Amino acid sequence: MATAKRLIFLGFDKSPRCLFETITIPELKDGEILCKIRVAAICKSDLHTINGLRSQAVPSYLGHECVAEVVAHRRTCNKDLQVGQRIVFSICDSCGKCVTCLNGLPQKCTSLYKYGHERMLSMASTLSGAYSSHIILRAKTAVVAITEDLPDSVAAPINCSLATMVSAVSKIKHDTSKTVLIQGCGALGVYGCALLHDAGFSKIVCSDKIPTRLKLIRNFGGIGILAGEEQERLEPDSVDIIIEACGCKDVIDVGLSLLKTWWYIISFVGMVHPNSRLNLTAEKLIRKCLTITGDEYT
Ligand SMILES: [Zn+2]
Ligand SMILES: [Zn+2]
Repeated sequence: MATAKRLIFLGFDKSPRCLFETITIPELKDGEILCKIRVAAICKSDLHTINGLRSQAVPSYLGHECVAEVVAHRRTCNKDLQVGQRIVFSICDSCGKCVTCLNGLPQKCTSLYKYGHERMLSMASTLSGAYSSHIILRAKTAVVAITEDLPDSVAAPINCSLATMVSAVSKIKHDTSKTVLIQGCGALGVYGCALLHDAGFSKIVCSDKIPTRLKLIRNFGGIGILAGEEQERLEPDSVDIIIEACGCKDVIDVGLSLLKTWWYIISFVGMVHPNSRLNLTAEKLIRKCLTITGDEYT
């Protein structure tokens, strides 16, 4: 019988508690795909969970950004799916029928199943995290084959970090004359900058505390400025759209002081943890007639 090794997250109690165990790989059900994990990335949400900053039902499995290789499958709807193929997959397995699915939010499905976030239902049956040797993809999970020219290390964050930014940017990319400030030049910021640049935006200002990231962001069409110097480098009321991509609530005051008035947007993508209470009054929103959005796939 083939076996798999998996990591189980037991919870945070002064420090993270995890264990590895070896299990027998269960028989596949209709529509399922058994994959070997080739490369798994570490998402900030994984770090938040293991450091006790984000609550997660335990025991559970972690890891959701990865490149997987098909070992076996019982799926008939993906005609081209082949053993040995490299794939990425949607983090969410959604029903496709409930109200939220039908309204274009499968990541909020009423019977949602999220890889790398699921509570362990049975010690013997679940391979649902990427921090394992294998993963079993469920019948409704979307899969995409990776082309030869895309290395595993580049493809691994596609289903989370890149997907989040595609969603955030799709809401704002209709007017490329706008000035955008992206707060944070980690993976989310880099993806956001690249997507906006590709869409035709020419004024993409990106702030971060780490100088090397500011150099990197130039390669993706961004103008890097040191976090904390935004108000010196930019005029008040000069920014149309803010994308918070750093996970730090303290940046919002600076962003608000730079935003223009009248329907301009703040898009939250990074603060997916409880320490995100904002210094934001209704008066500030009303005075600037702001729109706030949020995007989450993790
Ligand atoms: Zn992620
Ligand atoms: Zn649904």
